[in-house]
Formats: sequence, C-alpha cells, structure tokens
Amino acid sequence: MRKYNFSAGPSTLPSEVLQQSAEAILNFNNSGLSLIEISHRSKDFIAVMDEARTLVKKLMKLNDTHEVLFLQGGATLQFAMAPLNLLKTKAAYVDSGNFASASIKEAKKIGNIDVVASSKEDNYTHIPKNYTVPTDVDYLHLTANNTVYGTEIKTFPELHVPIVCDMSSDMLSRDMDFNKFGLIYAGAQKNIGPAGTTLVVVDKTLLGKTGRNLPSYLDYQVHIDKDSMANTPPVFAVYATLMNLKWLEKQGGVAGIEKQNKAKAELLYGEIDRNPLFRGVCVEEDRSLMNVCFFLNDDEKYKTKFDQMWKEAGIVGIGGYRTVGGYRASIYNAMPIEGVQLLVEVMKELERTA
Ligand SMILES: *Cc1c(COP(=O)(O)O)cnc(C)c1O
Repeated sequence: MRKYNFSAGPSTLPSEVLQQSAEAILNFNNSGLSLIEISHRSKDFIAVMDEARTLVKKLMKLNDTHEVLFLQGGATLQFAMAPLNLLKTKAAYVDSGNFASASIKEAKKIGNIDVVASSKEDNYTHIPKNYTVPTDVDYLHLTANNTVYGTEIKTFPELHVPIVCDMSSDMLSRDMDFNKFGLIYAGAQKNIGPAGTTLVVVDKTLLGKTGRNLPSYLDYQVHIDKDSMANTPPVFAVYATLMNLKWLEKQGGVAGIEKQNKAKAELLYGEIDRNPLFRGVCVEEDRSLMNVCFFLNDDEKYKTKFDQMWKEAGIVGIGGYRTVGGYRASIYNAMPIEGVQLLVEVMKELERTA
C-alpha cells in the first residue's frame, strides 16, 4: 500500500508522475533507451526541456520579460546567485525563518545587506510586517513560505524596487501575479518535482547591471542565452518535473490547485483548533497552506500513543523540524485530501480514546 507521505522535502509526488518517470528510466519514448542514458542534446531531450520551460511560463502567466531556467545547486546556490546577479550597492532582506536567515548569511558575503525586519525574537511564529524598504536598495528579498515554522506571506508588498523571492516550498501552489517579481527561485523537491533541479524565474531586464564578471554557471544571462542548457542539465529531475507540471495543468493549473490546497489546510487547521488535545504554533493570519505545524498539549500523556496511531494508519513524515519539535504535516500540491482526512481521523480517534 502507498503511504501518505507528509515529509517536508523531498516530498510526495502524484502516483502517475512516479509511474511515468519510472517508465522513462526504463524505456524513454519507446526508443529502447533510458531517459538517463541519452544525450541531453538529443532532439527528444531538448523537447523535454523546452516543454517544461514553456509550461512553467504558461502556468505562471509570465510575460516575455521573464525567463524560466532549470538549474542545479538547490535554493542554497540561489542564496548566492541572486545577489551576485542583482546586487550592485545594497539589498534589503526580511528574516522570517531559518532559510531566510541562511539567505542573509550568504548575501552578506557578496554585498551590503540591510535586514529591514525579523521575527526571530518571536521564534519566527509570524511574518514580519510594517517595515520600510529604503529607496536606494537594488531589491527586497523575501521568503514566501517558511517551511520549518509554517508561516506564509499572504500579500506581497507593492514596491518601487524588484522583489526577489524564495518560493521553494510554495511554488505553484497558489495564484498571484508572478510578473510582479524580479526573481523567483525554488528547489524542486518541495512542490515541483524531485531533488536535483532548481526552478528560476527571472526578469531579464534586471540583468547585466552589477559590473561583476561572474563565473559562467553563476550568471543567469549565460543560462538564458543557452536555453537552460549551458551545461548538462539534471535530465531526470527536469523530466519528472515536466510530468508533474502536466499533472498540475490537469488540476486546473495554479488556481485549481490553490482551491484544493485551501480545502486541505482548512480541514487540518480546523481540527487542530477544535481538538482539545492539540494546539497550533503560528499566528493565525500567517498560517502556511503548505506546512502545518502543531503541538500536542500533553506530550507525556499522548505522544507515544499518537505516534503509534498515525504510523499504523499509514502516515509518514509528520515529525516537526528538529529545532521546533511537535508535528509538521506538509500538505504540498501532491498530497490528496484523503491523506489529510486520514490524519484528521487519527487526531479525532486519539481524542475519543484518550
Ligand atoms: C528547502 C528550502 C531551501 C533549501 O533548498 P535546497 O534545495 O536544499 O538548497 C531554501 N528555502 C526554502 C524556503 C526551503 O524550503
């Protein structure tokens, strides 16, 4: 039986995507060859890369100013690549969680960083708001969804400087005007595909202004000029991502999946708030639709029993992040509502038998 996998990343993918990806490894397009043993310059693979980039553009309704790239090095490399390509004099950063904090640490190695707001003192239980962004910065860096703490930005500020956004854990989970962003990046393994590729969406009109002579791989313009094939791309990760993008299209695209994601989150937060044995972690208005963090009110009394119950029910991966504790259920696009219903059932059963 397939388990319900609530892991934060790498994380669950639709069964049909796993099936198609497995088939392509054995026999790609009925060629008698494996997807992972053919040339990335072959006609068949170039078609995969083209279709994946085009589909992202379509799903995100991007203008021609915005280019889509599939790179490597994870979101972690983007922590450095973003400032290398866009920071000329100074950049503003919001510290909303551990990944935001990691992005600040990297950016400080490259240039002058102004941390304009932080929720660290409140253990990152909310999204910092009501901050001002200096007019002389090259961009504002935000983390859309804080994977570890379970908070998510609901409305993005309207600014006169570009917004650079780490969307690793909520990319393509909700609809918005993506053309408003100067740069968006996301490690694929949370909500887009398998680990090994990073989706980058960049407004190319912002490039080429820093005067830095960058190593080729670190230069977005090089990847744009080479159609995201400057070197050997992660062929398997891109293929599986393409299958997942097609699946997403069948769900009604980003707006369609957003509806499903909202229904799942409502169901789970509803039970956390209703069930006297549990409590939520974050400020309600900032609660993430993707990573739902919660605690048992009495670990000593119920933890062993609850852990045994959800494991027996076929649920995996709801342990909280090591520094936060408690529980975190990641309900990314590919988690079916049936999985959330099952988890809620187990929480109710714990209450009934307490
Ligand atoms: C997981 C994650 C990262 C790190 O991604 P890697 O691909 O492992 O480098 C960065 N930011 C956010 C918001 C994440 O969830």
